[in-house]
Amino acid sequence: LTFADFGLAPEIQRALTDQGYTRPTPIQEQAIPVVLQGRDVMGAAQTGTGKTAGFSLPIIQLLLAHASSSMSPARHPVRALILTPTRELAVQVAENVKAYAKHTPLRSTVVFGGMDMKPQTVILRGGVEIVIATPGRLLDHIEQKNISLSQVQMLVMDEADRMLDMGFLPDLQRIINLLPKQRQNLMFSATFSPEIKKLAATFLNDPLTIEV
Ligand code: AMP
Repeated sequence: LTFADFGLAPEIQRALTDQGYTRPTPIQEQAIPVVLQGRDVMGAAQTGTGKTAGFSLPIIQLLLAHASSSMSPARHPVRALILTPTRELAVQVAENVKAYAKHTPLRSTVVFGGMDMKPQTVILRGGVEIVIATPGRLLDHIEQKNISLSQVQMLVMDEADRMLDMGFLPDLQRIINLLPKQRQNLMFSATFSPEIKKLAATFLNDPLTIEV
């Protein structure tokens, strides 16, 4: 199996060649077609398996259908939201997304706590399709009306088990309440505890389970 078999846009395949990826990893083989079909996914996968590309590549492909090269912020509403437990993971995911989308008109950015909100605010207000965020700082930006989530069609909860361990459940609930009801949900977790299963039952709609 190659990346070309998924029918990914040439701009995405070119980025993968730039990255030196030659073939999909097992989680990518399973996740990419299912996400492209629009299904919700519960993925049991550790970091290092290639899970980031497993969710980012189909997200970029699905968003490309409506991508605008216009400069107007209104033409770049947030359409995919990727939540991570830590700033380190947020930065890492954001670097991957940027690399995979670099030949497309899609814009992405990362927001996390512990730094000045102003530079993040300028970028958010300029319009971005893909936002990678830690929950607390995202809520700060929502409160300050720097970001609207009314057009989000895809939600990713990455390392969901760590988000629960760190006490982010109330923040997750507040954020998810602000999203359109009609959306695609992807959840990744290294473990499958009863708490994670409960979270999945609450937020995922008829999910397909993927394990590697
Ligand atoms: P992740 O598990 O998403 O953190 O990815 C682990 C590492 O594998 C990252 O450095 C990725 O750049 C790399 N990677 C992801 N997919 C592939 C692939 N198909 N071929 C080679 N490297 C990859």
